[in-house]
Amino acid sequence: MKFKEFGLNEKLLEAIGYMNFEKATEIQEKAIPVIMEGKDLIGCAQTGTGKTAAFVLPTLHQIAEEAHNGIHTLVLVPTRELAIQIDQQIQGLAYFTNTESLAVYGGGDGVSWEQERRALSHGADIIIATPGRLISHLNNGYVRFENVRHLILDEADRMLDIGFYEDILKIIGYLPKKRQSLLFSATMAPKIRKLAQQILHDPLEISISVSKPAEGVTQTVYMAHEDQKTPLTKHILKDKDNFRSIIIFCSTRRKVEQLTRNLKRSHYNAQGISSDYEQEEREKVLLDFKSRKTRILVATDVLSRGIDIKDINLVINYDVPGDAEDYVHRIGRTARAETKGMAITLISSDEMYKFHRIEKLIERELEKLPPPAELGEGPQWETPSPKGKNRRSKSNFRKKGNFKGRKKGPGKKPENT
Ligand code: AMP
Repeated sequence: MKFKEFGLNEKLLEAIGYMNFEKATEIQEKAIPVIMEGKDLIGCAQTGTGKTAAFVLPTLHQIAEEAHNGIHTLVLVPTRELAIQIDQQIQGLAYFTNTESLAVYGGGDGVSWEQERRALSHGADIIIATPGRLISHLNNGYVRFENVRHLILDEADRMLDIGFYEDILKIIGYLPKKRQSLLFSATMAPKIRKLAQQILHDPLEISISVSKPAEGVTQTVYMAHEDQKTPLTKHILKDKDNFRSIIIFCSTRRKVEQLTRNLKRSHYNAQGISSDYEQEEREKVLLDFKSRKTRILVATDVLSRGIDIKDINLVINYDVPGDAEDYVHRIGRTARAETKGMAITLISSDEMYKFHRIEKLIERELEKLPPPAELGEGPQWETPSPKGKNRRSKSNFRKKGNFKGRKKGPGKKPENT
């Protein structure tokens, strides 16, 4: 379907042309008419489907066509990176209109606080905010939300994972009751439904290939002991000189540091990013990666959801993500809006049960490859029993060597920010 058919404002069509969006993606085709009609919506769609433009375009259309006063739209997002990215997409699509938007997120300096205070009190058209930071502003009493017409929750499941449920409800308490509310989430867990019931009015539900990796991603899986993972990563990278952008996800900040250091020592063009880094540094690392100054980005979960970096050739899951949905998000980094990509996951014996959950979610069993012979034998894959009894079968442990993963309890959540 062509964008012209939606009846969008001419200036938006012009920007869409400049952005080389030729036809609408599935979520856009389904969501844009519903949003333009003024209905509430639950959109179940993962990153890479074009969901941002699906809610941004009708919002910008309404801002361009209707007179309004003050803040028109509030977008709530889980992370600052996603806030910045949505703001950038708004700026691109709103280029020919005179819409003002501002991303409001934590970690900035006094100057950004002041800029946010002004936008929140005098009214930028669109505010994209992380809940924590917004609450800090709300507590100061100057935020003018009385004319907000649109509320959008993006990556709602992620916001609830982080623990923003109460904050979201508190923020919504400041908004007019009469408004249009849209909720986007990659999954439709019961807690999302509960939230939707509380804040949406008679919503229409649209679901786009729930929790299935974007088509076009080649998924490869290796069995590897913890101490084989770094050499195996290097082995994987060895014949990929033509891959210009690679992301490696680790479960902890410490692993990010160690792997980055190791790769740099071996003369790989790599940078690490995790919540240990200052906001400014994070933005610089991301920018260097986006502009391809940095070829390999080693990251914790900070990046796995929502963040749009074009043309990632390869994602390596150095560790299996704790949440099955995160796997889908992570590998969603590669095949975005119909481009091809590759995802490689390394599984230690401690992580088999997690990968089993992933296979259940994606409804597909993937072949488990052994590490290359020169790295020695890897663990054997075993399908965990229903009660998880063979999660950590002894036969799978490496007898010698530094097997750090063993110390972690199976249910323990890694520090994954
Ligand atoms: P999202 O799922 O919103 O993170 O979008 C993923 C990527 O797809 C972003 O880089 C968008 O700029 C791009 N995109 C969104 N809509 C379209 C479209 N209709 N045609 C081509 N690319 C698109």
